[in-house]
Amino acid sequence: MAKPVRTLLPFSLLLTVFLASLWLGQAAKDEDAAATAKVYKVLIIDGQNNHQWAVTTPVLRQALESSERFEVEVSTSPPKGADEGWDTWRPAFADYDAVLSNYNGELWPEPVRDAFEDYVKGGGAFVVVHAANNAFPGWPEYNEMIGLGGWGRRNEANGPYIYYKEGQLVRDDSKGRGGSHGKQWEFPVQIVDPTHPITKGMPETWKHAKDELYSELRGPARNMKVLATSPSKATKRDEPMIMVLEYGKGRVFHTPMGHADYSMQCEGFFTTLQRGTEWAITGGVTIPMPENFPGSDAVVLP
Ligand code: ZN
Repeated sequence: MAKPVRTLLPFSLLLTVFLASLWLGQAAKDEDAAATAKVYKVLIIDGQNNHQWAVTTPVLRQALESSERFEVEVSTSPPKGADEGWDTWRPAFADYDAVLSNYNGELWPEPVRDAFEDYVKGGGAFVVVHAANNAFPGWPEYNEMIGLGGWGRRNEANGPYIYYKEGQLVRDDSKGRGGSHGKQWEFPVQIVDPTHPITKGMPETWKHAKDELYSELRGPARNMKVLATSPSKATKRDEPMIMVLEYGKGRVFHTPMGHADYSMQCEGFFTTLQRGTEWAITGGVTIPMPENFPGSDAVVLP
């Protein structure tokens, strides 16, 4: 009686075929992953800011879209002092994977505030850039989301100062204004948590483009982690420069960097914004560190 053909094949051939099929399968999977890497929808909010939002929003869009992992849309609020337009300005937060605020101005109408709170609390992603942390000092839930803010008559009633001093995180309840900055300069960003998905692989210190180094920010700072700091010449403290927060089921990525278009034109800023936005959406980071990421000695243009 003939044996089945299969058992007549040499074992080594079977093993080779088996390993080759595994390898081909993995290669196909890798290709699929690259081809189908999810593209996330991001909504930028602008329209009012004591900064040039009409100039910086296109740079923020470029920073995100250049990774080919984000598609950006913009919702522009009515201008400051407008009597009309507020009744119909209703950004559809829930249609987006992330909301990025480039807004610092009049308080949003209550339905917009409620929708935004529901969005983040329900698991949405929020990205806070520079003067967006000056906005809404009197809106408690917004301040919970951003963790730290400045100006707008913020003071000790808004929460502690948070900074690093001699390598230690300090929560400082002393009295005083919230928010200050010195002259703009090309300052170093120092990674204090190299294990977080956003900062993993970043050099310990990298040079950021000319910017305002925000200092003396204060706020509730709950459920907040500081990932990076920068040394303020004014306060002699290491001020928070990259923060992540949890708010309800949502995640918040907050960077006080980004005063002007030239501050954002920085490979370090681009990469940080991309990875921070992805983390806020998914809780992980797959966007790789670019080879031209800055080191400690020079600013790198994107
Ligand atoms: Zn500024």
